[in-house]
Amino acid sequence: MEHPKEKRAEILSDLQQPVSIEKTIIQLERLGKLLDQAPAIICILAGPDFRYEFVNEAYQQLVPGRNLIGRPFADVFPEIKGTGIESIIHRVYQTGKTYYGKEVLFPVSRLENERAEDAWFNFIYQARYTIPGKIDGVSVFAFEVTDEVAAKLQAEESVRSLKSLVMTAHYGLLILRGRNWIVETVNTRITELWAKDQEEVLGKPLLEIFPDLEEQPFPAYLRQVYDTGIGYGQDEEVYYVETPAGRVTKYISFYYDPIFDKDGNVSGIIASAEDISEKVEGRLLLEKSYSEQKSLVAELIMINEELERVNERLVATNQLAQESQLRLEKTITDLAISEVRFKQMVDQAPVAISILKGPDLIIDSANELILKRWGKGPGILNMPLRLALPELKGQPFLKLLETVYRSGKLYIGHEVKAMLGAPGALQEYYLDFVYKPLKDKQNRTTAVMVVATDVTLQVKAKKEGQKTIDMLKFSIEAANIGTWAQDLKTNAVTISGRHKEMFGFTPDEHVPTENLMNQILPEFRIEVYKAMEHVYQYGGLYDITYPTVGFHDKKMRWTRALGSVIKDEDGVPSFFSGVSIETTQQMEDEMRKNHFINIVSHELKTPLTSLKGYIQLLQHKSEKSGDLFMASTLGKADSRLDKMTSLINGFLNVSQLESGKIQLNIQEFDLGLLITEVAEEISLQASMENIRFSPVQPVMIKADRDKIGQVIINLLNNASKYSPLASLIDISSTLENETVVVRITDCGIGIRQEDQRRIFDRYYRVDSTENNQISGFGIGLYICYEIMQRHNGSLYVESSTVNGSTFCFSLPLD
Ligand code: ADP
Repeated sequence: MEHPKEKRAEILSDLQQPVSIEKTIIQLERLGKLLDQAPAIICILAGPDFRYEFVNEAYQQLVPGRNLIGRPFADVFPEIKGTGIESIIHRVYQTGKTYYGKEVLFPVSRLENERAEDAWFNFIYQARYTIPGKIDGVSVFAFEVTDEVAAKLQAEESVRSLKSLVMTAHYGLLILRGRNWIVETVNTRITELWAKDQEEVLGKPLLEIFPDLEEQPFPAYLRQVYDTGIGYGQDEEVYYVETPAGRVTKYISFYYDPIFDKDGNVSGIIASAEDISEKVEGRLLLEKSYSEQKSLVAELIMINEELERVNERLVATNQLAQESQLRLEKTITDLAISEVRFKQMVDQAPVAISILKGPDLIIDSANELILKRWGKGPGILNMPLRLALPELKGQPFLKLLETVYRSGKLYIGHEVKAMLGAPGALQEYYLDFVYKPLKDKQNRTTAVMVVATDVTLQVKAKKEGQKTIDMLKFSIEAANIGTWAQDLKTNAVTISGRHKEMFGFTPDEHVPTENLMNQILPEFRIEVYKAMEHVYQYGGLYDITYPTVGFHDKKMRWTRALGSVIKDEDGVPSFFSGVSIETTQQMEDEMRKNHFINIVSHELKTPLTSLKGYIQLLQHKSEKSGDLFMASTLGKADSRLDKMTSLINGFLNVSQLESGKIQLNIQEFDLGLLITEVAEEISLQASMENIRFSPVQPVMIKADRDKIGQVIINLLNNASKYSPLASLIDISSTLENETVVVRITDCGIGIRQEDQRRIFDRYYRVDSTENNQISGFGIGLYICYEIMQRHNGSLYVESSTVNGSTFCFSLPLD
């Protein structure tokens, strides 16, 4: 079967073929058949009144109930009158111009006289020519397109209704078309939201209307809906609108629904949006007020708590108030009691008390003590002081009391002399006193209270003390003694003028201590510092003699300083003070004496040696001749000579020591053996048989054997000399810390503490009755001490007048 389209083309081509009658007839028949079967609606309207000359099957179908052939078109379809169809046909007929109608409404009644139905057609009106150039009819080819048009109309209707839906919706609606989101439809809700007019936005791409929208999240959502075909929306989104007044923040709730084309692609978006700014702001306001409320509530709670605390405090304060009320009541009671007691107390007080009332100072009360001091009886009570104690005239007290009464100001008197007592027997007193004005509620002085203590004794003692100090000062000055004092806490030093003079300064010039020290000869300076350190640390007597070179006059002087450290109540050294005596004269005398002794000793030594030789010779001879008396006498003379020799040797030793000429003959020897030898030799003497040896071990030392022997002899002799006859002497030697210590202990008279340090001084002898009966020159210990010093050893004593003495010397073992 041929396709209708092709058939139609064939027909049309046939129509355009050159015309021949027979052929035309044949062709027309064929054509008639063809046209009958054609799917198009075909008719030929002939003549100027357009009568149906031919209708095909399809045409007849269109209006099945009507007779068409031979009838004029306008009769058949009266319903088309006024539709313009007629005029079109006429124009084609007249002009020959083919007319193409598209979707033309052709209301037709399928049956005659029935109600016309709307029908749409696409059609071609073509002029039919009989002879060339002559038109005798109009051929009509039409296709009914009512369904399509109806569908299209329906579509248009739905768009319209969508639009109207959009326009009339109670919430913002908007249709965007295409990829660039052209605003197709928008209702006023949206334009109000946008702050734009409809004309400003319709038909324009969204981003052209709102170039700033790209900054906001909406384009991204739109694209997403386009890409996914899935709707998207949010309940609350911030949206900024630029208005003439500036940028405004709004909150919107929106939803984007995709619109699909017939192929299922997203071609647009229906956007619904609602301005919820008011709601959100309302909510935010609500939230804010809620949080404010919350903090208010919190504050309220706090205030409440504070109130509770205040309440608690109030309760506590109340309690306190009650307690203090009670206390007050008690105090008042106590006061009442104490007033009574006060009177008693005043009477019994150890201080003198009196109350003088009014400007006349009337004695209102006076305790026993003050009456006693005044030398008066209670009869003076209620009398003006002036009359009661007439002796006060000429003394300062009445005037002072009057001033206190007038001025209302307290007066304190200190150590004021007063003449008081019974008439004719006035005594001198010294008083500390207070005059206290007593005032009434209006602060007016009504009386003066006198409280006095007798300080007569203290004042007199002080005066006495001052007198003593003055005397001491005077004596010190008279004795030409210098004084010095150092405050060990502040280091402040006070030096008398005389002390300065001993260092060659003038008495009035300011001399710092170190300047004084600089005047001491360097070799003695360290000794002085050592002695000072010693008394700072251990106390005791500071006693040192040193030579100085005068600062101004360069004169050599010898000074002996004596002092001690005074400690405070806590035992901390606080003061170091003492005196200084110039000993230049004594020192020079001593040197002269030494010089003399030295010369005499030397001069005596030679004749003594020859004398000893002669005596021994004579002794020898008299023994031979049998003159026993002579021999014994000469023996005694010899022993006296020995003593004398040893004495003179002693003096010589001293002078040797002083001139530094003493020579040590160092050798290694056994000290234990030396002790034994010396002790044995000594014990042969009549008075020395009572020496006892405690363990004496052999110990090798390097020293001058003779000189160490001399020390042992000296110490043993002293032990015997200063002890009762036949009392025990103990000698021992022990090893202690790299030294050997030899101890010689006696049970003798002992040495007082204050003498112990000085017995090693040259020519020093203890001054006591016992000691004075024992002969000696006070040089033995001095020599021993010096010998020990030269051996880098030491010599010291431990002694008491009860138990006797122990002399110890120690030598290094090296
Ligand atoms: P001297 O014995 O010749 O007086 P020393 O220098 O030997 O001289 O002694 C000095 C002083 O020390 C003595 O005068 C004496 O007062 C005292 N003395 C020395 N040894 C003893 C002792 N063992 N016991 C008591 N006093 C002593």
